[in-house]
Amino acid sequence: GTVQEAGTLLASKNVRVNCLDENGMTPLMHAAYKGKLDMCKLLLRHGADVNCHQHEHGYTALMFAALSGNKDITWVMLEAGAETDVVNSVGRTAAQMAAFVGQHDCVTIINNFFPRERLDYYTKPQGLDKEPKLPPKLAGPLHKIITTTNLHPVKIVMLVNENPLLAEETALNKCYKVMDLICEKCMKQRDMNEVLAMKMHYISCIFQKCISFLKDGENKLDALIKSLLKGRASDGFPVYQEKIIRESIRKFPYCEATLLQQLVRSIAPVEIGSDPTAFSVLTQAITGQVGFVDVEFCTTCGEKGASKRCSVCKMVIYCDQTCQKTHWFAHKKICKDLKDIYEKQQLEAAKEKSEEENNGKLDVNSNCVHEEQPEADVGISQETCQPKESAEGEKECSPSGAGLEGFQEAPAGPQESE
Ligand SMILES: [Zn+2]
Ligand SMILES: [Zn+2]
Repeated sequence: GTVQEAGTLLASKNVRVNCLDENGMTPLMHAAYKGKLDMCKLLLRHGADVNCHQHEHGYTALMFAALSGNKDITWVMLEAGAETDVVNSVGRTAAQMAAFVGQHDCVTIINNFFPRERLDYYTKPQGLDKEPKLPPKLAGPLHKIITTTNLHPVKIVMLVNENPLLAEETALNKCYKVMDLICEKCMKQRDMNEVLAMKMHYISCIFQKCISFLKDGENKLDALIKSLLKGRASDGFPVYQEKIIRESIRKFPYCEATLLQQLVRSIAPVEIGSDPTAFSVLTQAITGQVGFVDVEFCTTCGEKGASKRCSVCKMVIYCDQTCQKTHWFAHKKICKDLKDIYEKQQLEAAKEKSEEENNGKLDVNSNCVHEEQPEADVGISQETCQPKESAEGEKECSPSGAGLEGFQEAPAGPQESE
Protein backbone atom coordinates (compact mmCIF):
# COMPACT_ATOMS: atom_id res chain seq x y z
CA GLY A 1 0.00 0.00 0.00
CA THR A 2 1.00 3.66 0.09
CA VAL A 3 3.09 5.25 2.79
CA GLN A 4 -0.01 7.11 3.97
CA GLU A 5 -2.09 3.95 4.32
CA ALA A 6 0.75 2.25 6.12
CA GLY A 7 1.01 5.22 8.45
CA THR A 8 -2.66 4.95 9.36
CA LEU A 9 -2.32 1.21 9.89
CA LEU A 10 0.76 1.56 12.08
CA ALA A 11 -1.02 4.16 14.18
CA SER A 12 -3.64 1.60 15.20
CA LYS A 13 -2.65 -0.50 18.18
CA ASN A 14 -2.93 -4.05 16.85
CA VAL A 15 -0.42 -3.87 13.99
CA ARG A 16 2.99 -5.32 14.79
CA VAL A 17 5.71 -3.37 12.97
CA ASN A 18 8.16 -6.25 13.26
CA CYS A 19 5.83 -9.02 12.10
CA LEU A 20 7.46 -11.73 9.99
CA ASP A 21 6.34 -13.27 6.72
CA GLU A 22 6.83 -16.95 5.86
CA ASN A 23 10.54 -16.31 5.02
CA GLY A 24 11.24 -14.42 8.20
CA MET A 25 11.21 -11.04 6.48
CA THR A 26 9.99 -7.93 8.29
CA PRO A 27 8.14 -5.11 6.52
CA LEU A 28 11.35 -3.05 6.87
CA MET A 29 13.32 -5.69 4.94
CA HIS A 30 10.72 -5.70 2.17
CA ALA A 31 10.73 -1.91 1.94
CA ALA A 32 14.54 -1.81 1.89
CA TYR A 33 14.79 -4.43 -0.83
CA LYS A 34 12.21 -2.65 -2.99
CA GLY A 35 14.00 0.66 -2.55
CA LYS A 36 11.11 2.42 -0.76
CA LEU A 37 12.89 5.13 1.19
CA ASP A 38 9.82 6.84 2.68
CA MET A 39 8.37 3.52 3.79
CA CYS A 40 11.66 2.61 5.49
CA LYS A 41 11.68 5.91 7.36
CA LEU A 42 8.05 5.46 8.42
CA LEU A 43 8.64 1.93 9.70
CA LEU A 44 11.74 3.01 11.62
CA ARG A 45 9.81 5.88 13.19
CA HIS A 46 7.28 3.32 14.38
CA GLY A 47 9.94 1.24 16.06
CA ALA A 48 10.90 -1.25 13.36
CA ASP A 49 13.88 -3.31 14.55
CA VAL A 50 16.72 -2.45 12.18
CA ASN A 51 18.77 -5.39 13.44
CA CYS A 52 16.05 -8.05 13.26
CA HIS A 53 17.85 -11.28 12.36
CA GLN A 54 15.04 -13.81 11.84
CA HIS A 55 15.33 -14.14 8.08
CA GLU A 56 15.69 -17.73 6.87
CA HIS A 57 19.13 -17.00 5.38
CA GLY A 58 20.17 -14.58 8.08
CA TYR A 59 19.72 -11.43 5.98
CA THR A 60 19.26 -8.12 7.78
CA ALA A 61 17.49 -4.97 6.60
CA LEU A 62 20.90 -3.42 5.92
CA MET A 63 21.79 -6.35 3.67
CA PHE A 64 18.57 -5.89 1.69
CA ALA A 65 19.26 -2.16 1.41
CA ALA A 66 22.81 -2.81 0.20
CA LEU A 67 21.62 -5.44 -2.29
CA SER A 68 19.03 -3.04 -3.68
CA GLY A 69 21.82 -0.55 -4.33
CA ASN A 70 19.87 2.32 -2.80
CA LYS A 71 22.42 4.61 -1.17
CA ASP A 72 19.89 6.68 0.79
CA ILE A 73 18.24 3.62 2.31
CA THR A 74 21.63 2.14 3.18
CA TRP A 75 22.48 5.39 4.94
CA VAL A 76 19.11 5.49 6.77
CA MET A 77 19.66 1.94 8.06
CA LEU A 78 23.13 2.83 9.33
CA GLU A 79 21.86 5.96 11.03
CA ALA A 80 19.14 3.87 12.66
CA GLY A 81 21.88 1.76 14.23
CA ALA A 82 22.21 -1.16 11.81
CA GLU A 83 25.17 -3.32 12.77
CA THR A 84 27.61 -3.69 9.89
CA ASP A 85 29.41 -6.83 11.00
CA VAL A 86 26.43 -9.20 11.21
CA VAL A 87 26.82 -12.08 8.75
CA ASN A 88 24.22 -14.06 6.82
CA SER A 89 23.98 -17.86 6.81
CA VAL A 90 27.01 -18.17 4.52
CA GLY A 91 29.14 -15.82 6.57
CA ARG A 92 28.88 -12.65 4.48
CA THR A 93 28.43 -9.12 5.81
CA ALA A 94 26.17 -6.55 4.14
CA ALA A 95 29.22 -4.84 2.58
CA GLN A 96 30.51 -8.13 1.16
CA MET A 97 27.10 -8.96 -0.28
CA ALA A 98 26.83 -5.54 -1.89
CA ALA A 99 30.31 -5.95 -3.39
CA PHE A 100 29.30 -9.35 -4.75
CA VAL A 101 26.42 -7.87 -6.74
CA GLY A 102 28.41 -4.83 -7.83
CA GLN A 103 26.73 -2.22 -5.60
CA HIS A 104 30.02 -0.50 -4.85
CA ASP A 105 28.53 2.81 -3.78
CA CYS A 106 26.70 0.99 -0.98
CA VAL A 107 29.91 -0.80 0.01
CA THR A 108 31.61 2.58 0.25
CA ILE A 109 28.82 4.01 2.39
CA ILE A 110 28.84 1.06 4.79
CA ASN A 111 32.62 0.96 5.12
CA ASN A 112 32.91 4.69 5.74
CA PHE A 113 29.98 5.20 8.06
CA PHE A 114 31.03 6.79 11.31
CA PRO A 115 28.27 8.20 13.52
CA ARG A 116 28.90 11.72 14.77
CA GLU A 117 28.05 10.58 18.34
CA ARG A 118 31.11 8.35 18.36
CA LEU A 119 33.26 11.40 17.77
CA ASP A 120 31.28 13.63 20.11
CA TYR A 121 32.16 11.23 22.92
CA TYR A 122 35.66 12.75 22.87
CA THR A 123 34.30 16.29 23.18
CA LYS A 124 33.29 15.61 26.80
CA PRO A 125 35.84 15.10 29.58
CA GLN A 126 36.09 11.37 30.40
CA GLY A 127 37.16 9.83 33.70
CA LEU A 128 39.71 11.99 35.46
CA ASP A 129 40.25 14.33 32.49
CA LYS A 130 39.68 17.99 33.24
CA GLU A 131 39.41 18.85 29.57
CA PRO A 132 37.90 16.95 26.68
CA LYS A 133 40.38 15.26 24.35
CA LEU A 134 38.73 17.02 21.42
CA PRO A 135 37.60 20.66 21.61
CA PRO A 136 33.89 20.62 20.57
CA LYS A 137 34.49 23.16 17.78
CA LEU A 138 36.81 20.67 16.05
CA ALA A 139 34.29 17.82 15.99
CA GLY A 140 32.47 19.10 12.88
CA PRO A 141 35.50 19.64 10.65
CA LEU A 142 37.12 16.41 11.85
CA HIS A 143 33.94 14.41 11.23
CA LYS A 144 33.88 15.74 7.67
CA ILE A 145 37.36 14.33 7.09
CA ILE A 146 36.64 11.02 8.84
CA THR A 147 33.62 10.33 6.64
CA THR A 148 35.32 11.26 3.38
CA THR A 149 35.49 8.49 0.82
CA ASN A 150 38.31 10.19 -1.06
CA LEU A 151 41.50 9.25 0.78
CA HIS A 152 43.84 11.09 -1.55
CA PRO A 153 46.52 12.69 0.67
CA VAL A 154 46.26 15.96 -1.28
CA LYS A 155 42.49 16.03 -0.68
CA ILE A 156 42.95 15.45 3.05
CA VAL A 157 45.54 18.23 3.28
CA MET A 158 43.20 20.48 1.26
CA LEU A 159 40.36 19.76 3.71
CA VAL A 160 42.65 20.66 6.62
CA ASN A 161 43.96 23.73 4.82
CA GLU A 162 40.52 25.14 4.05
CA ASN A 163 39.50 25.22 7.71
CA PRO A 164 41.40 27.74 9.87
CA LEU A 165 40.27 25.90 13.03
CA LEU A 166 42.04 22.74 11.90
CA ALA A 167 45.05 24.15 10.10
CA GLU A 168 47.20 24.77 13.14
CA GLU A 169 49.49 22.62 15.24
CA THR A 170 47.57 22.35 18.53
CA ALA A 171 44.31 21.44 16.84
CA LEU A 172 45.93 18.82 14.62
CA ASN A 173 47.79 17.36 17.58
CA LYS A 174 44.50 16.80 19.40
CA CYS A 175 42.83 15.44 16.29
CA TYR A 176 45.47 12.87 15.44
CA LYS A 177 45.54 11.60 19.02
CA VAL A 178 41.76 11.14 18.96
CA MET A 179 42.08 9.32 15.63
CA ASP A 180 44.65 7.00 17.19
CA LEU A 181 42.29 6.32 20.10
CA ILE A 182 39.46 5.48 17.72
CA CYS A 183 41.84 3.25 15.76
CA GLU A 184 42.74 1.40 18.96
CA LYS A 185 39.08 1.05 19.91
CA CYS A 186 38.26 -0.38 16.46
CA MET A 187 40.92 -3.05 16.92
CA LYS A 188 40.17 -3.94 20.53
CA GLN A 189 36.39 -3.93 20.56
CA ARG A 190 34.54 -7.23 20.38
CA ASP A 191 33.42 -6.68 16.80
CA MET A 192 36.79 -5.60 15.43
CA ASN A 193 36.74 -3.27 12.43
CA GLU A 194 40.11 -3.34 10.68
CA VAL A 195 38.92 -1.24 7.75
CA LEU A 196 37.88 1.67 9.95
CA ALA A 197 40.98 1.25 12.11
CA MET A 198 43.21 1.51 9.03
CA LYS A 199 41.35 4.57 7.79
CA MET A 200 41.71 6.34 11.15
CA HIS A 201 45.39 5.46 11.32
CA TYR A 202 46.01 6.67 7.77
CA ILE A 203 44.29 10.03 8.36
CA SER A 204 46.23 10.35 11.62
CA CYS A 205 49.48 9.88 9.66
CA ILE A 206 48.51 12.59 7.15
CA PHE A 207 47.68 14.92 10.06
CA GLN A 208 51.11 14.27 11.54
CA LYS A 209 52.69 15.15 8.20
CA CYS A 210 50.69 18.40 8.24
CA ILE A 211 52.04 19.14 11.72
CA SER A 212 55.64 18.63 10.66
CA PHE A 213 55.13 20.96 7.69
CA LEU A 214 53.37 23.57 9.85
CA LYS A 215 56.42 23.61 12.12
CA ASP A 216 58.79 24.73 9.42
CA GLY A 217 58.55 26.44 6.09
CA GLU A 218 56.83 29.51 4.79
CA ASN A 219 53.82 28.30 2.88
CA LYS A 220 53.42 25.32 5.18
CA LEU A 221 50.47 23.21 4.00
CA ASP A 222 50.82 24.52 0.45
CA ALA A 223 54.38 23.25 0.57
CA LEU A 224 53.14 19.83 1.68
CA ILE A 225 50.66 19.73 -1.21
CA LYS A 226 53.48 20.63 -3.61
CA SER A 227 55.70 17.89 -2.21
CA LEU A 228 52.87 15.39 -2.63
CA LEU A 229 52.36 16.39 -6.26
CA LYS A 230 55.96 16.79 -7.35
CA GLY A 231 56.80 14.23 -10.01
CA ARG A 232 60.15 12.55 -10.65
CA ALA A 233 62.13 13.68 -13.67
CA SER A 234 61.75 10.54 -15.78
CA ASP A 235 57.96 10.27 -15.96
CA GLY A 236 56.40 12.71 -13.52
CA PHE A 237 55.39 9.98 -11.06
CA PRO A 238 54.76 11.51 -7.58
CA VAL A 239 57.31 9.49 -5.62
CA TYR A 240 56.96 11.33 -2.31
CA GLN A 241 53.20 10.77 -2.31
CA GLU A 242 53.64 7.05 -2.97
CA LYS A 243 56.22 6.78 -0.20
CA ILE A 244 54.05 8.64 2.33
CA ILE A 245 51.12 6.30 1.71
CA ARG A 246 53.29 3.17 1.86
CA GLU A 247 54.95 4.37 5.05
CA SER A 248 51.57 5.14 6.66
CA ILE A 249 50.31 1.65 5.90
CA ARG A 250 53.48 0.01 7.24
CA LYS A 251 53.27 2.03 10.45
CA PHE A 252 49.85 0.53 11.29
CA PRO A 253 50.41 -0.51 14.91
CA TYR A 254 48.61 -3.88 14.81
CA CYS A 255 50.88 -6.11 12.76
CA GLU A 256 48.65 -9.17 13.20
CA ALA A 257 45.78 -7.47 11.34
CA THR A 258 44.68 -9.38 8.24
CA LEU A 259 44.00 -6.17 6.34
CA LEU A 260 47.52 -4.89 6.99
CA GLN A 261 49.04 -8.13 5.73
CA GLN A 262 46.87 -8.04 2.60
CA LEU A 263 47.85 -4.45 1.87
CA VAL A 264 51.55 -5.10 2.37
CA ARG A 265 51.38 -8.19 0.16
CA SER A 266 49.73 -6.15 -2.59
CA ILE A 267 52.08 -3.19 -2.37
CA ALA A 268 55.49 -4.58 -1.42
CA PRO A 269 56.29 -6.32 -4.73
CA VAL A 270 55.30 -3.28 -6.80
CA GLU A 271 58.16 -1.09 -7.95
CA ILE A 272 57.59 2.59 -7.22
CA GLY A 273 55.98 4.12 -10.28
CA SER A 274 54.23 0.95 -11.44
CA ASP A 275 50.61 -0.05 -10.98
CA PRO A 276 48.86 -0.52 -8.66
CA THR A 277 49.75 2.57 -6.68
CA ALA A 278 49.57 2.43 -2.89
CA PHE A 279 46.72 4.94 -3.14
CA SER A 280 44.60 2.69 -5.34
CA VAL A 281 45.26 -0.37 -3.16
CA LEU A 282 44.40 1.53 0.02
CA THR A 283 41.31 3.12 -1.51
CA GLN A 284 40.00 -0.19 -2.70
CA ALA A 285 40.56 -1.78 0.70
CA ILE A 286 38.89 1.00 2.63
CA THR A 287 36.07 2.15 0.39
CA GLY A 288 35.49 -1.01 -1.62
CA GLN A 289 35.72 1.06 -4.79
CA VAL A 290 36.95 -0.85 -7.78
CA GLY A 291 35.69 1.55 -10.41
CA PHE A 292 39.06 2.93 -11.42
CA VAL A 293 38.57 1.94 -15.02
CA ASP A 294 35.47 3.75 -16.16
CA VAL A 295 35.35 6.70 -13.75
CA GLU A 296 37.55 9.77 -14.04
CA PHE A 297 39.53 10.90 -10.99
CA CYS A 298 41.16 14.30 -10.53
CA THR A 299 44.92 14.11 -11.09
CA THR A 300 45.51 16.54 -8.23
CA CYS A 301 43.12 15.51 -5.46
CA GLY A 302 41.67 12.15 -6.51
CA GLU A 303 38.07 13.40 -6.46
CA LYS A 304 35.63 11.25 -8.42
CA GLY A 305 33.85 12.64 -11.46
CA ALA A 306 36.51 15.11 -12.60
CA SER A 307 35.82 16.32 -16.14
CA LYS A 308 38.18 19.15 -17.10
CA ARG A 309 41.05 18.03 -19.28
CA CYS A 310 44.32 19.82 -19.84
CA SER A 311 43.62 21.36 -23.22
CA VAL A 312 47.21 20.91 -24.40
CA CYS A 313 47.91 17.21 -23.75
CA LYS A 314 44.35 16.00 -23.06
CA MET A 315 45.91 13.27 -20.90
CA VAL A 316 45.21 14.59 -17.38
CA ILE A 317 41.91 15.51 -15.85
CA TYR A 318 40.91 17.86 -13.02
CA CYS A 319 37.90 18.89 -10.88
CA ASP A 320 38.33 22.54 -11.72
CA GLN A 321 40.83 25.28 -12.45
CA THR A 322 42.02 25.39 -8.84
CA CYS A 323 43.13 21.77 -9.01
CA GLN A 324 44.72 22.39 -12.41
CA LYS A 325 46.63 25.42 -11.14
CA THR A 326 47.81 23.52 -8.07
CA HIS A 327 49.22 20.77 -10.29
CA TRP A 328 50.64 22.95 -13.06
CA PHE A 329 54.14 23.35 -11.52
CA ALA A 330 54.56 19.58 -11.82
CA HIS A 331 52.49 18.94 -14.92
CA LYS A 332 54.15 21.56 -17.12
CA LYS A 333 57.32 19.47 -17.12
CA ILE A 334 55.63 16.51 -18.79
CA CYS A 335 52.67 18.11 -20.57
CA LYS A 336 54.54 18.21 -23.89
CA ASP A 337 55.59 14.55 -23.64
CA LEU A 338 52.05 13.52 -22.76
CA LYS A 339 50.79 15.48 -25.75
CA ASP A 340 53.06 13.42 -28.02
CA ILE A 341 51.80 10.20 -26.44
CA TYR A 342 48.22 11.34 -26.87
CA GLU A 343 48.73 12.17 -30.52
CA LYS A 344 50.44 8.85 -31.13
CA GLN A 345 47.54 7.05 -29.48
CA GLN A 346 45.03 8.95 -31.59
CA LEU A 347 46.98 8.06 -34.71
CA GLU A 348 47.13 4.38 -33.77
CA ALA A 349 43.45 4.35 -32.89
CA ALA A 350 42.64 5.84 -36.27
CA LYS A 351 44.88 3.30 -38.00
CA GLU A 352 43.29 0.45 -36.07
CA LYS A 353 39.89 1.71 -36.98
CA SER A 354 40.64 1.78 -40.68
CA GLU A 355 42.20 -1.69 -40.45
CA GLU A 356 39.15 -2.88 -38.62
CA GLU A 357 36.97 -1.53 -41.38
CA ASN A 358 39.15 -3.27 -43.95
CA ASN A 359 39.10 -6.60 -42.14
CA GLY A 360 35.44 -6.31 -41.39
CA LYS A 361 35.89 -7.30 -37.76
CA LEU A 362 38.08 -6.51 -34.79
CA ASP A 363 39.97 -9.22 -32.99
CA VAL A 364 39.15 -8.19 -29.45
CA ASN A 365 41.41 -10.74 -27.79
CA SER A 366 44.60 -9.59 -29.46
CA ASN A 367 43.99 -6.17 -27.96
CA CYS A 368 43.98 -7.56 -24.45
CA VAL A 369 47.39 -9.18 -24.41
CA HIS A 370 49.37 -6.16 -23.34
CA GLU A 371 46.62 -4.37 -21.47
CA GLU A 372 47.50 -3.77 -17.88
CA GLN A 373 44.77 -4.53 -15.40
CA PRO A 374 45.90 -2.77 -12.25
CA GLU A 375 42.91 -3.91 -10.20
CA ALA A 376 43.22 -7.58 -10.99
CA ASP A 377 45.68 -8.48 -8.25
CA VAL A 378 44.76 -6.19 -5.42
CA GLY A 379 43.39 -9.03 -3.41
CA ILE A 380 41.22 -7.46 -0.73
CA SER A 381 37.73 -8.00 -2.04
CA GLN A 382 38.81 -9.70 -5.21
CA GLU A 383 36.79 -12.84 -4.64
CA THR A 384 33.57 -11.08 -3.77
CA CYS A 385 33.90 -8.67 -6.67
CA GLN A 386 34.28 -11.20 -9.46
CA PRO A 387 31.16 -10.42 -11.50
CA LYS A 388 31.89 -6.70 -11.81
CA GLU A 389 35.62 -7.20 -12.27
CA SER A 390 35.27 -9.35 -15.34
CA ALA A 391 32.74 -6.99 -16.85
CA GLU A 392 35.17 -4.13 -16.44
CA GLY A 393 38.01 -6.21 -17.78
CA GLU A 394 36.15 -6.52 -21.04
CA LYS A 395 35.36 -2.85 -21.17
CA GLU A 396 39.03 -2.10 -20.75
CA CYS A 397 39.76 -3.78 -24.06
CA SER A 398 38.13 -1.09 -26.12
CA PRO A 399 40.60 0.61 -28.47
CA SER A 400 42.65 3.25 -26.74
CA GLY A 401 41.31 6.75 -27.00
CA ALA A 402 37.71 5.63 -27.18
CA GLY A 403 36.95 7.23 -23.83
CA LEU A 404 37.88 10.69 -25.00
CA GLU A 405 34.71 11.48 -26.91
CA GLY A 406 32.76 14.41 -25.61
CA PHE A 407 35.40 15.59 -23.18
CA GLN A 408 35.17 19.08 -21.81
CA GLU A 409 37.97 21.45 -22.59
CA ALA A 410 39.75 23.07 -19.70
CA PRO A 411 41.64 26.28 -20.29
CA ALA A 412 45.29 25.80 -21.16
CA GLY A 413 47.61 25.49 -18.20
CA PRO A 414 48.58 28.71 -16.51
CA GLN A 415 51.60 30.00 -18.37
CA GLU A 416 53.63 30.92 -15.33
CA SER A 417 57.39 30.82 -15.66
CA GLU A 418 59.62 29.59 -12.92
ZN1 LIG B 1 40.65 17.95 -7.79
ZN1 LIG C 1 48.84 18.85 -20.17
